[in-house]
Amino acid sequence: MTIRHLAIIGLGLLGGSIGLAVTARGLAVTTAGWDRDPAVRQRAAERGLVGTVHETAEAAVQGADLVILCVPVGAMADAARAIAPGLAPHAIVSDVGSSKAAVAEALAEALPGATVIPAHPVAGTEQSGPDAGFATLFAGRWCIITPPDACDPAALEALSAFWTALGSRVELMDAAHHDLVLAVTSHIPHLIAYTIVGTASDLEDVTQSEVIKYSAGGFRDFTRIAASDPVMWRDVFLTNRGAVLEMLGRFTEDLTALQRAIRSGDGDTLFDLFTRTRAIRRAVIEQGQDDERPDFGRVNK
Ligand code: NAP
Repeated sequence: MTIRHLAIIGLGLLGGSIGLAVTARGLAVTTAGWDRDPAVRQRAAERGLVGTVHETAEAAVQGADLVILCVPVGAMADAARAIAPGLAPHAIVSDVGSSKAAVAEALAEALPGATVIPAHPVAGTEQSGPDAGFATLFAGRWCIITPPDACDPAALEALSAFWTALGSRVELMDAAHHDLVLAVTSHIPHLIAYTIVGTASDLEDVTQSEVIKYSAGGFRDFTRIAASDPVMWRDVFLTNRGAVLEMLGRFTEDLTALQRAIRSGDGDTLFDLFTRTRAIRRAVIEQGQDDERPDFGRVNK
C-alpha cells in the first residue's frame, strides 16, 4: 500500500509541519487539510501548509489514503467523528497525540471498522498555531507508532514508511508502555516546569520583576517549557492520568530523599545523583536528541 494522498486535520504546529515537510522533502504525496478555525484555515492557505485547504473535514479527507489527526488529544474523538462521512474505505487513520492509550480508545470508538493506527512524533516546540510549523521538525526525531493488536501489516508498513520519509526514526510500542515512558520523559517535566514557574510567580517575598530579571539562573529554561500550549497540556494530563500519577509518585519519593540529604548535609548523595544525571545529558547529545552547544545553542544578545 502506498500513500499518494494525505489529509491533515488540525493545521497548527504539528499539522502544518507535516504538510511543509511533505513538500520540502519532495514526496510524491498530495496534501489536503482542514481546521475548525476559519482564521487558521486562511493562514494555512497563505503559508501553503497543505496543497488544498477545505471548508469541511468531510471534504478534506475525500480520497485520502492516510488521514492524520493533529488536534489536541481531548478533541480527537470530535475530529474523528467529523471525518467519518468522507473517509475512503481503504484509508488509514492516524494521529500525532501526545498520549496514546486514551486516543486509541477514542478513535476506535468513533470510527468502527476503520484502519486506525495511532502514532506520536516525539518532536515539538512550545509554539502553537498555523505560523508555528516548520519543515524540519521531524528530522532525526523519533516517531512512536502504537499499532493495535490486529493491525493490518501493510497499513503499518505504509505508515512507518511515511514517517521515515519525513526524516523520522520509527519505533513500534505498546500504547500503555508509550504512556509510561512519555510520562517520565515529557509529561512530568512539563508538570514540574508549570509548578516551578507558578511557585516563583506566587512568592510574596520575591517580586515579579526579580523573577524575570534573574531568570538566567535555570529558571529561564523552565519558563520556555511552561509557555507550552495550555489546551494541549491540560488534555495530556487528563488523558494520561494513570501513568502520570504513577511516575509522580516515584518522583515525589526521590524528591523527598533529596530533601533529606540536603537537611542532613549528605553531600555524597547529592554528588552521586548529579554525576549520574550529567551522564544522561551527555547521552542525549550523543544520540542527536539535543544541541551540544552551551546554553542550547542560543545566541545571547
Ligand atoms: P496547535 O498548534 O494548537 O494546533 C491544533 C489545531 O487543531 C488548532 O488550530 C486547533 O484549533 C485545531 N483544532 C482543535 N480542535 C479541533 C477539532 N475538533 N477539529 C479540527 N481542528 C481542531 O497544536 P499542536 O502543537 O499542533 O498539537 C496537536 C497535537 O499534537 C496534540 O494532540 C499534541 O498532543 C500533539 N503533539 C504536540 C507536540 C508539541 O510540542 N506541540 C509534540 C508532539 C505531539 P483551535 O485553536 O481553534 O482550538
